[in-house]
Amino acid sequence: MRMNPSYDKSNRVVIVGGGPAGVSAFGALVRRGPIAEITVVDPIPVGLGNVYGDLFASDPILLCNTPTGFMYLDDTARADFLDYLVDRGWPVGLDDHLPRFLFGQYCRDRFQQFRDEAERAGTLVRVVESLAESVTQTGDGYQVALSSGDVLTATDVVLCVGLKTPKLAPLVEQYEGNERLLRGSYPASRVRELEPESRVLVLGVRSSAQDTMAMLCRDGHTVVATSPSGRLSAVRDRCSVPAEAKLDREKWLALDPEDPEIVSKVTQYLVDDVLTAGEGRELTQQIVSEAPDTLSRLEAELTQAVSGDTRWADLTYEGLFTLNSLVGPWGPDARAKLMPLAYPILTHYVNALPVLTARNLVANIKAGRTLIKDVFVEKVLEADNGFDVTWNDGTVERFDYIVSTSGFHFPRFVTDDGRTIRFTHDGAIGEDTLVGLTKDLRLDLRGNGEAERIWAIGAACGQRYPFAHVIMLAAAQAPHVAAMLVDGEVGNVEEIAPTYGAIQTRMAVGA
Ligand SMILES: Cc1cc2nc3c(=O)[nH]c(=O)nc-3n(C[C@H](O)[C@H](O)[C@H](O)COP(=O)(O)OP(=O)(O)OC[C@H]3O[C@@H](n4cnc5c(N)ncnc54)[C@H](O)[C@@H]3O)c2cc1C
Repeated sequence: MRMNPSYDKSNRVVIVGGGPAGVSAFGALVRRGPIAEITVVDPIPVGLGNVYGDLFASDPILLCNTPTGFMYLDDTARADFLDYLVDRGWPVGLDDHLPRFLFGQYCRDRFQQFRDEAERAGTLVRVVESLAESVTQTGDGYQVALSSGDVLTATDVVLCVGLKTPKLAPLVEQYEGNERLLRGSYPASRVRELEPESRVLVLGVRSSAQDTMAMLCRDGHTVVATSPSGRLSAVRDRCSVPAEAKLDREKWLALDPEDPEIVSKVTQYLVDDVLTAGEGRELTQQIVSEAPDTLSRLEAELTQAVSGDTRWADLTYEGLFTLNSLVGPWGPDARAKLMPLAYPILTHYVNALPVLTARNLVANIKAGRTLIKDVFVEKVLEADNGFDVTWNDGTVERFDYIVSTSGFHFPRFVTDDGRTIRFTHDGAIGEDTLVGLTKDLRLDLRGNGEAERIWAIGAACGQRYPFAHVIMLAAAQAPHVAAMLVDGEVGNVEEIAPTYGAIQTRMAVGA
């Protein structure tokens, strides 16, 4: 189907954000092209993004949350990252969790390769080191205003702006600016600059907190970590792309958010799917339901994972795609009612600790370098060279530093006049009007269903999709966006289903 049959391939595309999603979009456009002109706008070098470059990943202890088999820029070449590493002598496999900076290097190299291909095909490629501040509709295209004061013109815009800044826990917001309060463990170099043998309170226990704990303990500090739930993520051994469907996608997509029974249905579906994935393993063999304390739970989960029993992990890949397809069409009310219930449970498993990370954590807890507290903080007061922290049980402790690892803000796009889009995040929308996002990932500036030639992929489409920020989803979206943008094909990204089957590495096919 065609959206614009008279299309003449004279597109001038601006990609805002040159992280992995931006590189993925660039590669997909080049493969679909030729395109007259592509400009990538990013204040930092293209390819690194917010997570895989200097700021977030300069430390080799910072590992990817997903295995190598989930890390790709082109979903028709899902072993490309692995092949890239094997070519360079890394003894790694699809199930390994690798240092994040390696993925950044890979994205940089692939961008250069895509760029060469584009230029050979006659596309003018430009990289502009700046921040895009707004996109304005001009009638025959768009103007992208940059922080440098320059303005770019475009026929099409692809927004790949990624996650925003780390959130600050409300308990410590008032101390922003205190140099002993760190907003997340980024830049990693900042964490490495703390005074020797410091006592550090980490607010949060999920992925970023685990990164922080690992770096701090290795560098000789002691860490106390806590969160309102106090629950670490689950532990899993591998989470591969399954050879065949393990999850009944149609059953899930038939769920109605207005159904009063939806919570119990979701619970039942989850149990059923975990049992199916378990191939005869009972629920209790795959999941630790009760444990007296954090260390016992962690050790029990580690034992299950090492025994190969955490087969629920095989649902992760298709679960992410299916949940996005399910929740995408929901209105804001259904989303606001149900997602707060579902998200903590789902992220508990989606962000599960790989065995290596869990082992490291157990070792640090046993050596007394890390304590995961099962009470939360009541009050934080600034003190000389640190903070006095009052726990919920009334005790008070002095810490030299606090690291707040409470997740990241997601990007949002807002407008005042129905013509200009400004970039903000989910914590700062205020009175602004949120710009809608259609099922083909296009921005609907005036809210009348007439979508713009402005697409949002990766974390940038997080207002519609709960698990938008995983790179494999951006890689699945990019070819659809390229098909719409270049050839005018009508898109429905909501229907993107997972691709099954063993990932063929070049080694495996003998190339
Ligand atoms: C600590 C951490 C670990 C993670 N690990 C994994 C993992 O192992 N696997 C996985 O799949 N996902 C992981 N993620 C999720 C991560 O968001 C995605 O993998 C990936 O970064 C998405 O790529 P992206 O290009 O959408 O976003 P980003 O990597 O965030 O890149 C966005 C880019 O856009 C640029 N930009 C932003 N705003 C503008 C603007 N206004 N103008 C110009 N440029 C702009 C930024 O400078 C940046 O370069 C992790 C996230 C975090 C926080």
